[in-house]
Amino acid sequence: MKITGQKREVKEIVKQWRAEGLSVGLVPTMGYLHEGHESLIRRAASENDRVVVSDFVNPTQFGPGEDLESYPRDIDRDAAVCEAAGASLIFHPQPEEMYAGDACTFVDMTGLTAELCGKSRPIHFRGVCTVVAKLFNIVRPDRAYFGQKDGQQLSVIRRMVRDLDFDIEIVGCPIVREADGLAKSSRNTYLSEEERKAALVLSRAVRLGKDMAENGEKSADVIVKAMTELIDREPLARIDYVKAVNAVNIEPVSVMEPPVMVAMAVFIGKTRLIDNFVYEGEDR
Ligand code: AMP
Repeated sequence: MKITGQKREVKEIVKQWRAEGLSVGLVPTMGYLHEGHESLIRRAASENDRVVVSDFVNPTQFGPGEDLESYPRDIDRDAAVCEAAGASLIFHPQPEEMYAGDACTFVDMTGLTAELCGKSRPIHFRGVCTVVAKLFNIVRPDRAYFGQKDGQQLSVIRRMVRDLDFDIEIVGCPIVREADGLAKSSRNTYLSEEERKAALVLSRAVRLGKDMAENGEKSADVIVKAMTELIDREPLARIDYVKAVNAVNIEPVSVMEPPVMVAMAVFIGKTRLIDNFVYEGEDR
């Protein structure tokens, strides 16, 4: 497995693979890899001849006052995870390699980003779409792998690929959780011991909402209210949002007409965590 920070080198290596008739999967990440990322890499390795993992804390998707500087980084550990999971190449660029100093072109979306994280983090998805479009152009993969953990992001990327005619299959992968239910996240490292316990309120709320939906509750409002009340009982938790939306177009819904994504962002102390479930209906 090779690590490079150079776009040109990635293009050359992928070109060589293409000449050999090999298929290529891409797993975009911000590094500090955990079992959630690992599951994406393993899936990509099982479905493609070669896997590229990008490991880049993308500055353009962080707003002012967010955790760009403090975001955890450990490329040596990441390299070991990637290698064990079957990656062939890590692309680990510096921001100057990714963005020219006078870059002024962005991929912006007029739908799907008005709700949920797009509402709380106004420039976030412009940064995500721009960097992912750039990665797609650099790597030109056959398939790209994204986690349902970032449910809105998955819908946004699917839409971008459709709208901009990228010839890339987007593969969504299930949320990987800790044994006690907490969704794995690089940001979990910010949590104190006490906050780590309090953070369980997110997955408990997901469990509650999912059970209600599966047991036939048709009102999204009733489900969201029950989840909100559960989270509100945790003193260290402060809700950013708990909301039910159509999982494809991210428009708010009040009825559990599938596919519905019930998503949340909750501050535990200063750490903003997200979680969600998708209700696909009874017979799926
Ligand atoms: P990040 O490094 O947080 O930008 O995440 C990179 C990719 O890994 C995204 O597609 C995430 O949705 C995915 N991912 C992060 N955490 C998890 C998780 N717990 N389970 C599944 N996928 C995840």
